[in-house]
Amino acid sequence: MPAELACFEERCRARFPITEIIYNCPRCGGLLEAVYPAPEGHPADWKRMWRDRRMSNTPLDQSGVWRYRELIGFLDDYRQVVTLREGNTPLLDAPRAAQYGGLDRITFKHQGFNPTGSFKDNGMTCGVAQAVRLGARRVACVSTGNTSASMAAYASAAGLDPIIFIPHGNISFGKLAQALEYGARTFQVEANFDQILALVRQLAERLGIYLLNSINPFRIEGQKTIMVEMMDQRDWRVPDWVVLPGGNLGNTSAFGKALREMKALGLIGRLPRLAVIQAEGSAPFFDLYRATDRSRLNAVTHPETLATAIKIGDPISWPKALHEVLTSGGVVEKVTEQEIADAKAVIGRCGIGCEPASAATLAGIRKLTAAGTIAGSADVVAVLTGNVLKDPDYIHRYHTGTLNAPDGTLLRSTFANPPVLVPAEANRIAALLGE
Ligand SMILES: *Cc1c(COP(=O)(O)O)cnc(C)c1O
Ligand SMILES: [Zn+2]
Repeated sequence: MPAELACFEERCRARFPITEIIYNCPRCGGLLEAVYPAPEGHPADWKRMWRDRRMSNTPLDQSGVWRYRELIGFLDDYRQVVTLREGNTPLLDAPRAAQYGGLDRITFKHQGFNPTGSFKDNGMTCGVAQAVRLGARRVACVSTGNTSASMAAYASAAGLDPIIFIPHGNISFGKLAQALEYGARTFQVEANFDQILALVRQLAERLGIYLLNSINPFRIEGQKTIMVEMMDQRDWRVPDWVVLPGGNLGNTSAFGKALREMKALGLIGRLPRLAVIQAEGSAPFFDLYRATDRSRLNAVTHPETLATAIKIGDPISWPKALHEVLTSGGVVEKVTEQEIADAKAVIGRCGIGCEPASAATLAGIRKLTAAGTIAGSADVVAVLTGNVLKDPDYIHRYHTGTLNAPDGTLLRSTFANPPVLVPAEANRIAALLGE
């Protein structure tokens, strides 16, 4: 039996050929997911094989996504794959951040080490492979930034035309610069993310463009490998918690699916709990989690946060993400702009650094340990989703005390480290250095 697309809705579960170009279930409108027959073999053998592949010089084996291809088996021909050696991201200890977060220790899984600087690369190598397989010449996405940077790179590397739609004035300069440099046709539209998405769906059908938005089930498959690689790097010791920021909730969906599938295959013995952190001005999933009726998500019409990667009012993957959070015994938390800004500076001081959305993790952990939800002794992996250089403007403003929240209030620069203007005089500089 080959891989198939399946409707995620419990009442429907309709199945479709893996090569059908659909983004939602044609019967009920539900989300789609890739499903597979169980791979053959023993967990111990797979673990050894994946470890051996790290020594290989084959591009497919060098990729931190395709190394685990047995768990994302939607292709039947791997010659279609374009890899930029995505994944392979480190687990980093950060004692200072642990202390700030109320933990004995913390491990960051830093997805900012990816080729275009965010976890979107893990998914995009799969989405683009599927586009090539389907014979698409053009691909498109609507993006707050990192998706467009990643899609532009992978599509261009594969010889496809990338087309990008971004909300006007809502994107960090680093991300836009990447999209331009990687050769994407880029349209800035005077509308918010959710409005543009509706527009692009129309255009895709009319012009035969393959869509690589966060709803794309093949991107979700690639993002699963973030959890697989993390477990491999930990010699398959399951953490107590995995903490990540939530925007469109594709990553939450991918992590939950990966962990459930690894458990079903006997690769791990239990599930870690997922903690999803949202920004206060853009927290519809937090509201849903707290609601008594969880059958419908109420969109936030004007989402606001400086963490643009999670500035999403109507997260498309919420049904999957809710399922994963509840199945894992997880939680959803929200944090303020101030909390994000300070947590980000602390991660920077560890010599690690990340973009604003990523720092929501440490801010959320601090809140969840204070509330007693996460124990101080817990084994916690926090996923840093994007690279520190994605948003240098934010950093400069924070450290010079000029960072304003979206509502105009000036944020406190608790850990400010501004540059100091000095005359070219050795004595004066020595005095400033405390001599
Ligand atoms: C896309 C993105 C997110 C949000 O991920 P979702 O899957 O949309 O929830 C968070 N941080 C960064 C850096 C991102 O690029
Ligand atoms: Zn359906």
